[in-house]
Amino acid sequence: MDPQRQMVEEIEAEVRETRAWLGKSALDPRVMAAMAKVPRHEFVSPREEHLAYVNAPLSIGHGQTISQPYIVAVMTDMVALEGDHMVLEVGAGSGYQAAILAEVVKQVYTIEIVPALAEQAREVLTRLGYANVALSTGDGRLGWEEHVPFDAIVVTAAARKVPPALIDQLKPGGRMAIPIGGRFMNQDLTLVEKAMDGKVSKRSILPVAFVPLVKG
Ligand code: SAH
Repeated sequence: MDPQRQMVEEIEAEVRETRAWLGKSALDPRVMAAMAKVPRHEFVSPREEHLAYVNAPLSIGHGQTISQPYIVAVMTDMVALEGDHMVLEVGAGSGYQAAILAEVVKQVYTIEIVPALAEQAREVLTRLGYANVALSTGDGRLGWEEHVPFDAIVVTAAARKVPPALIDQLKPGGRMAIPIGGRFMNQDLTLVEKAMDGKVSKRSILPVAFVPLVKG
């Protein structure tokens, strides 16, 4: 079987196995179509290209990782995207999650704190034609004031608490997916919802292990 097709089937199986956590047994078909389309091998290091479609996290250098495809799919699904949405990602890393988001929504803004990774992600996203992704180098805990408010925010590094600026920059009715917890341990993938009246609620979805969101 085509390795990318097989990866998609493994994600579908893992979603079914974890349905008690996720509260559903299948993800948004638009998210799964993006997982079937984006060439993950373009985002991993040449040394690990043969592993690109394994449902596992991979190293992208600088002590950072490209998340497990199942986690990328779950986080993209969690924030309930619509085609006309403007989305902020914090932690561009390889650019893979940004490409997945860009397949589903109109515009993606992504921030990466490690300049070399930002440069690499910008190069691959441009080469693959993702004109609807804007990438900035800096501390994503501060959000991206110029483009507020965001319909959805996806944070791909773990924080002890939700950065207040990100809550401020989320549209009323918007959703954020963020791993909350300690360094590499006891983290919960958390869904943060901002109601129309501005009230914020949080719900833990899944235990996860992300690299930490660092201070700029
Ligand atoms: N979304 C990425 C995976 C990211 S790993 C992908 O699809 O490949 C987490 C990333 O967050 C790392 O690249 C790390 O450098 C970055 N990061 C950590 N703290 C950050 C911060 N404060 N602002 C922006 N990026 C940050």
